[in-house]
Order: sequence, then C-alpha cells, then structure tokens
Amino acid sequence: MAALNIQAVAKRFGETDVLKRIDLDIRDGEFISLVGPSGCGKSTLLRIVAGLEQQTEGHILLDGRKVDAMRPRDRDLAMVFQSYALYPHLTVAENIAVPLTMRRMSTLQRSLIGKIVPSASERRREIAGEVAKVCDALSINALKDRKPAALSGGQRQRVALARAMVRKPSGFLMDEPLSNLDAKMRVQARSEIAALHRQLDSTFIYVTHDQAEAMTMSDRIAVMIGGELLQVDTPDQIYQMPQDLRVAEFIGSPK
Ligand code: ADP
Ligand code: MG
Repeated sequence: MAALNIQAVAKRFGETDVLKRIDLDIRDGEFISLVGPSGCGKSTLLRIVAGLEQQTEGHILLDGRKVDAMRPRDRDLAMVFQSYALYPHLTVAENIAVPLTMRRMSTLQRSLIGKIVPSASERRREIAGEVAKVCDALSINALKDRKPAALSGGQRQRVALARAMVRKPSGFLMDEPLSNLDAKMRVQARSEIAALHRQLDSTFIYVTHDQAEAMTMSDRIAVMIGGELLQVDTPDQIYQMPQDLRVAEFIGSPK
C-alpha cells in the first residue's frame, strides 16, 4: 500500500498549460477517481504519477519519498491502460508472467547469487504458481493457454488486471480501463474492480470520464476541468454540494 502526494504539479506542452498546479493527497488504501471531460488532463496526470511523463513543475511523493527522478518500474505502481496492451503472440499465462520474468533482482538476491540461485525450472514453477493465483482471483483459469485474439473485451480486461496484480504493487493506476467494454460488461467489471480493491487493500487511482462509474466505486472523487482540480470530496458531497458551477455541470450532465 502507498500514500501518494501530488504537490503543485504543473505540465506544459509547448505553449499549453495542460496541468495547472495540481495538489492532491491520496491516502494509503484509498480508492480515488479522477473525473473530468475529455482533454482535461487526466491521463497526463496519471502518466506523471506513473513516471511515464515528466512534470514541468512540482513533485510526486510515494509514502513521503520524492520519486520524481525514479523510473516507472521502480515506483511500485501498476498501470492498467484503456487499450489492454497485451502481447498478441503470447498466451494469457505468458502475458501475465511478463512482469515476473522481467523483474529485476533485489539487492538481497544479488548478494546471494552464486550461493542459492534458484534453478531455472524452480523459478519457472514459482512463476507458474503466482500466475495461477491471480488467474484464480480473476476467474480466468480456463483461458490460460489462449492468445489475446481469442478473448472477448471483458476477458482481455481481466488479463490486463491480472498482469497488473501479479507484481503485488502498492498502488494501481487505471486509465479508463472499462471504456472498451459494452454497457453490460462495464457494470460487471466495475463491481469486480471494487471487489479487487477491497481484497488487495491497495491504493487505486481510477481515471474515468464516466461520472456514474466514479460515483459507485470511489471513496473520493477528484473533479478536474481544463487542467485544474476543482473539487475533491466524497461522492455524496460532490453530488450534493458542488463547489463550482463547472463541477455541477459536469456531474449533472448525461454521459
Ligand atoms: P484526458 O486524459 O483528460 O482526456 P489528456 O491528459 O490526454 O486528457 O490530455 C490533456 C491535454 O494535453 C489535451 O489537450 C491533449 O491534447 C494534450 N496533450 C496530451 N499529451 C500531449 C503531448 N504529448 N503533446 C502535446 N499535447 C499533449
Ligand atoms: Mg485520457
């Protein structure tokens, strides 16, 4: 689990201020949704937290530590994208195993090298065990040997979640993970993600342009419009006491 602080983060692309001094403190284990109309800067903010994009100003802190100079894979956050970005030539099980086979050795493992290096077959068994665990959790055991092309949208989305979970990250960053699903699948996937959050006890930042989705899933909602964070509150407070006309209009507008 991780607490996350976004401190005065600004981002300029050329002449455009895409993010205008964003301050946001996210509690350990919190499920926070970032909502706002298309183009308001949600993905940019999430990518900065993930380390995939560098902010022009400000800082990102994870558990109180500045991580501005830290590479994405060292931040211990898993990102789930809208396009699930699965490898088409690998099976489901192989796709899920990718983060494990690429994991860098810890300092302890390095110091032990030459003493108790696990044999290749031992490590393979270990990885298979970890893949099986997340496949169980997401009910995708029966799909392990399929290629992504043979999966439905909802199944691909679960594989992408499984791949994010397998590293046991302390936080999940999700960028509109359900937007490629039809309405019925989306409702089901919502409750699965909510269940996953309860079960993992991790911090979730969930980006969506769908207010209704955010209302049902979140501890708090952060409303962003035009690169500014206008209100951060519980779903009830956002709905009943919008602090800005633009928030009221966005929350009240049909999707
Ligand atoms: P959202 O995810 O809320 O739809 P984005 O964060 O993707 O919004 O984009 C916010 C704004 O920043 C948009 O106007 C977009 O065109 C612009 N933008 C995003 N990435 C880049 C980039 N790499 N170069 C220039 N402009 C960008
Ligand atoms: Mg986006």
